[in-house]
Amino acid sequence: MVQKSDKIWFDGKLVPWDEANVHVLTHALHYGTGVFEGIRAYECSNGKSAVFRLEEHMERLLDSAKIIGLKVPFDRDQLVEATVATLKANGLKAGYVRPLVFVGAGAMGVHPGQNPIQVCIATWPWGAYLGEEALEKGIRVKCSSFTRHHVNVMMTKAKSCGNYVNSVLAKTEAVADGYDEAIMLDPQGYVAEGSGENIFMVKDDVLYTPPLHNVLGGFTRDSVMTLAADLGYEVREATLGRDMLYIADEVFFTGTAAEITPIREIDRRTIGEGKAGPLAKLLQAEFFGVVKGENPDYAFWLHEYEV
Ligand SMILES: *Cc1c(COP(=O)(O)O)cnc(C)c1O
Repeated sequence: MVQKSDKIWFDGKLVPWDEANVHVLTHALHYGTGVFEGIRAYECSNGKSAVFRLEEHMERLLDSAKIIGLKVPFDRDQLVEATVATLKANGLKAGYVRPLVFVGAGAMGVHPGQNPIQVCIATWPWGAYLGEEALEKGIRVKCSSFTRHHVNVMMTKAKSCGNYVNSVLAKTEAVADGYDEAIMLDPQGYVAEGSGENIFMVKDDVLYTPPLHNVLGGFTRDSVMTLAADLGYEVREATLGRDMLYIADEVFFTGTAAEITPIREIDRRTIGEGKAGPLAKLLQAEFFGVVKGENPDYAFWLHEYEV
């Protein structure tokens, strides 16, 4: 269960959590016509708090809406301000932020017509998505029997609600089969990403990740590539087969929710030493230092606020 907060920002104002409701004929509920973001705020070592890459997340939200064809009645800066106001109203020094833009109730055909475009931002306390233990010991995953979207079937650069049925299929199958997460292959059979995470592998000290052709351009992916390159590692975008993952030294997922989660087993094959590898651990330490404001070189990624 999500831990309830006091307020949710809904269509321009803060309303009590229990009053942020919609009609059952909301278009998005029937046809998946919505786009969302997942953002994290962290408590910093200096006692303040910071939202990680907030402006970019809100830009991506607007980009997702543009791809789907939704006109958002708020601009980036209003959404940024609303996020900080919601975190403050809820007294959250750290937490998860979930903005959602969706087609509201009105016409019931597939065409959204003149239905209102509604926007909400919810915030709540949230720990590690796959568990604290997952960050340390790594998780067990399987390659899904479900294929990741073809770019011309669903728009893979939009974090859209409808796209996520594909993720739900993969995740529920993986969990039902006793795994923690799924790796999704693209329509050609190459490695794409997790159900809501990007994927990396390490081989002979080089860091590899699939190109952006048909995966979401994650900010955690971008942060990890930047941090690794700044630490002197070679970083390559490359088309990867699942067999390349099997024989990698390390494999890990990245995402706002999953942060940097090592993968210790894929399709019943142990990866590397079967635990978090040295580069995953190094990048975790760097990443958590950055989000907590301990590294001035990356302070430009942080939107500070005080509760
Ligand atoms: C959100 C998401 C990611 C990770 O993106 P971040 O910006 O790092 O949170 C990766 N893949 C998919 C499909 C996603 O929806």
